[in-house]
Amino acid sequence: AAKAAGKDRAVVYEAALRETRLRRLAVVERLRTALVTDEITVHYQPIVTLRTGCVDAVEALVRWQSTPPDAFIPAAEDSGLIVPLGDRVLRAACRAAAPWHDRHGTSVTVNVSPRQLREPDFAVMVRRALLDSGLPATALILEITEGVLVGSALAIAHLHELRQDGVRVAVDDFGTGYSSLAYLRDLPIDILKIDRSFLRSGPASRPMVRSVVDLAHGLGLVTVTEGVETAAQAAMLVELGCDKGQGWHFGRPSPAGQMSALLENRTGAWLTDRETP
Ligand code: C2E
Ligand code: MG
Ligand code: MG
Ligand code: MG
Repeated sequence: AAKAAGKDRAVVYEAALRETRLRRLAVVERLRTALVTDEITVHYQPIVTLRTGCVDAVEALVRWQSTPPDAFIPAAEDSGLIVPLGDRVLRAACRAAAPWHDRHGTSVTVNVSPRQLREPDFAVMVRRALLDSGLPATALILEITEGVLVGSALAIAHLHELRQDGVRVAVDDFGTGYSSLAYLRDLPIDILKIDRSFLRSGPASRPMVRSVVDLAHGLGLVTVTEGVETAAQAAMLVELGCDKGQGWHFGRPSPAGQMSALLENRTGAWLTDRETP
């Protein structure tokens, strides 16, 4: 009987697995169509230099109707569709940011998935996006997640090559994975983005953020804290010496047109900005 029950469970599990797989396939199919029909857009969120309050960079965040990225990026990654999708976002971001950089010195930061970094012509694609848009390499930042460089000589080589052009590399969501700061020491990176979970740790936030900021600075990295939602959090980050902040307190992700307006009259305009779908 025990054996039969075990078998039943295996059948149920297999059915669930099959359903997940089918659902992912359906998402991938709709996403493939969306790429052709140009339904993919990009929103931009300000990253502010905490000391001055100036917008230093904007992060490009992919938008597809009302589906949140976390609901389709994994499927795009599994299917390989992230490669054309990521290229689309990169090109759009460079194009949008070229005039912002000309007028305001703003940089743009773009999320890159592990699958993209393992493409043999990744560096070529990035250089082409820069050339076609006229954005200088020094105004582009690529965001990778911690751990993607472990054991991937190709990914590391791409980043070394692009950094020689002046492109900067940021480690995204730092603190959510298993890597240590010692591991970061040997990698081709410039910026550490401290995950927003650090700000949600109540009284423990202060010593934790302080330690990460100090260690990152010791390694010569610029620090950005994500998920800044209140003025009190921003003030704490200034006090702890964190370089930059990103979060709803400074502005929600918004379409390129709104970001242009925000950069034109940056005097606090972003404080009340809301994301429009
Ligand atoms: P991420 O790169 O860490 O981006 C920051 C996420 O935090 C964004 O979610 C942003 O809307 C959200 N956020 C910003 N400020 C706050 C805040 O103050 N509070 C809270 N609670 N959230 C805040 P979004 O746009 O839903 O993107 C989720 C993730 O999807 C991104 O996390 C990134 O990992 C991935 N993603 C987005 N666009 C792309 C893309 O073009 N390519 C790839 N490969 N991944 C992308
Ligand atoms: Mg990011
Ligand atoms: Mg992040
Ligand atoms: Mg994140």
